[in-house]
Amino acid sequence: MGRIFFRRANLIDGVHAPKKNATVVVENERITAVATNGDAPKPAAHDVVYDLAGRSLMPGMVQCHYHVAYDNIGNLFDLDMKHPPTMLTLIAAKNAELLLRCGFTGAVGAGTLHNIDVTLKHAINQGMIAGPRFMACGRDVVTTGDSVDFHPSWWKLQMEGLGLICDGPDEFRKAVRDEIKQGVDIIKLYPTGGHGLAWPADVMTMTLEEMKSAADTAHERGKKIRGHIISKRGILAGLDARLDVIDHCDMMDDECIERLAAQGTFVTPSLFFPYLMVEQKRRTGKAAFPGVDEMERGLEHSYRILPKALAAGVKLLVGDDFGTSAMPHGDYAKELEAYVKGAGIPALEVIGWATRNGAELLGMKDDLGTIETGKLADLLVINGDPVKDITILQDRANLDVVMKDGKFVECQLSPGKAAARAA
Ligand SMILES: [Zn+2]
Repeated sequence: MGRIFFRRANLIDGVHAPKKNATVVVENERITAVATNGDAPKPAAHDVVYDLAGRSLMPGMVQCHYHVAYDNIGNLFDLDMKHPPTMLTLIAAKNAELLLRCGFTGAVGAGTLHNIDVTLKHAINQGMIAGPRFMACGRDVVTTGDSVDFHPSWWKLQMEGLGLICDGPDEFRKAVRDEIKQGVDIIKLYPTGGHGLAWPADVMTMTLEEMKSAADTAHERGKKIRGHIISKRGILAGLDARLDVIDHCDMMDDECIERLAAQGTFVTPSLFFPYLMVEQKRRTGKAAFPGVDEMERGLEHSYRILPKALAAGVKLLVGDDFGTSAMPHGDYAKELEAYVKGAGIPALEVIGWATRNGAELLGMKDDLGTIETGKLADLLVINGDPVKDITILQDRANLDVVMKDGKFVECQLSPGKAAARAA
């Protein structure tokens, strides 16, 4: 098979400032040349050439807080009582393919049912179904009466598929080992309430000892661990326990930022839902529900603190609770708008969170996340410039090419022909 040439690209490589008129060459699964100074190799007769005519070429994105098996969750019972495991697995497979076609060539699970992440990961890696590179998460690891332990006791329901209910460091250690036995790559804890859960954000729903026990057990076996954490107290506890990812992290302040940056802890700010609700209120003058005013105060805090976190070097990620009723699967790229238009972060930085930082969380920063010679070819061709307008990524019609591992998942371009549609 010949090489694939992308010529006349607006190259957003994740290393340098965007550069026009670049050529990128892909051979098998890897990038074998990146040329920006007219030093591009010449295509041979059997090579395939795509003239991008100024379209943007950027790395594939990584969804770093992914619930592939959430199916339009409107209330907690929808989590585990809506579908049998077999049906839910098929729904999740469709979601995984949709995520890939939306330009996310990688995904990191944030909690799943019936070990669906692991199943999908194997099916994707074997080429059975289309989907992203998948870092698989498992059950929600929680304490008695917290988070997903919400079914009334007298229903006598088992939580086998959804949660692992543990109390005390020993039970946490055993739960993490069991998750690892099931093939999970990253463990999900729920150390605080808030952000849609029954307990308020300032309630610690597990002890530091329990968190440490879980984290040490995961790290000892080379696995990662993440936590749903809202309050400052919770963030500091998550840092003490050395969690790899703090999810939501709403009440981060200067003290938290300093430690997050020093420890290299990842953060998924997940601002899309409050951004959506607050922008809607500001536009229409009407709140969708009574909690929107409080949400607005939280969002303003995030808008002020995120630029500081970025400047301090905190590793920020893209990823949110898609698959809930307000945020359907397929809307993934809308989250990026919240950081650019809401928090005023430059689009190029947010693209870096979605690509470079995501690749690092996947444990593949030497292989993915930027467009450089020798890296794997997970690439997007965008009809337009997402650095100038981040919302361009939201419309799949603008994704002319989605390439994973050097293979086309989507390709709306014809080889050899000059393209007329480029912005
Ligand atoms: Zn979540």
